[in-house]
Amino acid sequence: MQHEETNLFCRALQWISLAFLITLPVNLAHAQTEFERQTLELPTQAQQPSYPTNLVTQDTPLNKIEFIVRRNQTLSHALDNVIDSAQTVFQISQSANSELFTNLRVGDKLIIWTDDDNRLQKMNMDRSRVLSFHLERQDNQFHIYENHKTVDTKIKMASANINDSFYLAGESAGLSPRTIMNLADLFAWEVDFVRELRSGDEFKIIYEKRYLNDEYLGDGNILAAELTVGGQRKVRAFRLEVDNQLIGYYDENGQNLRKAFMRNPINYTRISSRFQRGRHHPVLQQTRDHRGVDYAAPTGTPIYAAGDGIISYKGWNGGYGKQVTIKHAGRYETVYAHLSRYGKANRGQNVKQGDIIGYVGMTGLATGPHLHYEFRINGVHRDPLKVKFPDAEPVLATHRRQFDQYASIMHSQLTRFDPELTQLALNFE
Ligand SMILES: [Zn+2]
Repeated sequence: MQHEETNLFCRALQWISLAFLITLPVNLAHAQTEFERQTLELPTQAQQPSYPTNLVTQDTPLNKIEFIVRRNQTLSHALDNVIDSAQTVFQISQSANSELFTNLRVGDKLIIWTDDDNRLQKMNMDRSRVLSFHLERQDNQFHIYENHKTVDTKIKMASANINDSFYLAGESAGLSPRTIMNLADLFAWEVDFVRELRSGDEFKIIYEKRYLNDEYLGDGNILAAELTVGGQRKVRAFRLEVDNQLIGYYDENGQNLRKAFMRNPINYTRISSRFQRGRHHPVLQQTRDHRGVDYAAPTGTPIYAAGDGIISYKGWNGGYGKQVTIKHAGRYETVYAHLSRYGKANRGQNVKQGDIIGYVGMTGLATGPHLHYEFRINGVHRDPLKVKFPDAEPVLATHRRQFDQYASIMHSQLTRFDPELTQLALNFE
């Protein structure tokens, strides 16, 4: 028991440190959606003169000004010094795509070019490393457009032996923190990373790396992965994408790697009380079964729906305080108690796995902020940390052929494993 507790604690620590390490890349993730796939709607080079070349064609050199947007500043501030400032700003606001320059954010850097009469001629702003906005005067109008740079996606393979920790192994293989985290997440249902992995276990991964003019931008998607567990068991993951939309990750048989339920409905710090019979209740001062799991966590910590379902109860429930109950497909029900407040979904509404249904609190009979979580099958309480969850949906019949082709190619790549591999045939009908 003591050992188990220690393990849990170690695991929690591991995940917290992972979560900490991962914070920055994850927050930046939205910026990367601009180059989600290797193809971007990209006008041809000829349609897109870059600024320096264009400037050469000017009769007279332009004056260049840099302007960084500060709090409460707008385009008017940026163009304060050009001639006919107000009129210019108005004219821009009436132009197509004007929002590119009127929705400015603090810290945006505008580069403004004016001619010798101090008339605005050009303006440009980098929104990210791959996206920039441009304005140029054409006759007496402003032409405003976006420019996406091409991002090259290269497919890489990496592998490592897991000795000290999964995370360190990932680092040694050259994976970004985000990719390491995503890789662990892929197998989180199948593998208990603390108890099952042993020294010498191995992972292999086929994933995307993104480059802008040979400069490494970041990792892209994981396409396939294999993890050897306990020296022999191999678990594999293959990505299924349809019309550039991620459908999910499946094993070689098309079984979903996700389960219908998350093991923990919270990114927990530590589990304060496990499912047990005859526990002494800390508030009621009497012994009774503890028919759920308590997750100690700060008030306000979000609580996620463990699986898809319908909110069947949302309200005060005696000693349970503010409670939400979700009814899931089949015979499953999950209960979340002592909430400080509820999520948005109301009784009778559908929720998806991972939706926030409430926040940790200590309403009802509770000695401190925690989530009391119950998992019921046919109305009978089961230990959510031990129960075998049903699988989420396998690959749909309509995608089966595509998936099988893809998985079989990826599978043989993983088996052969060629770290020099940089390009794979990825076009399937
Ligand atoms: Zn409890």
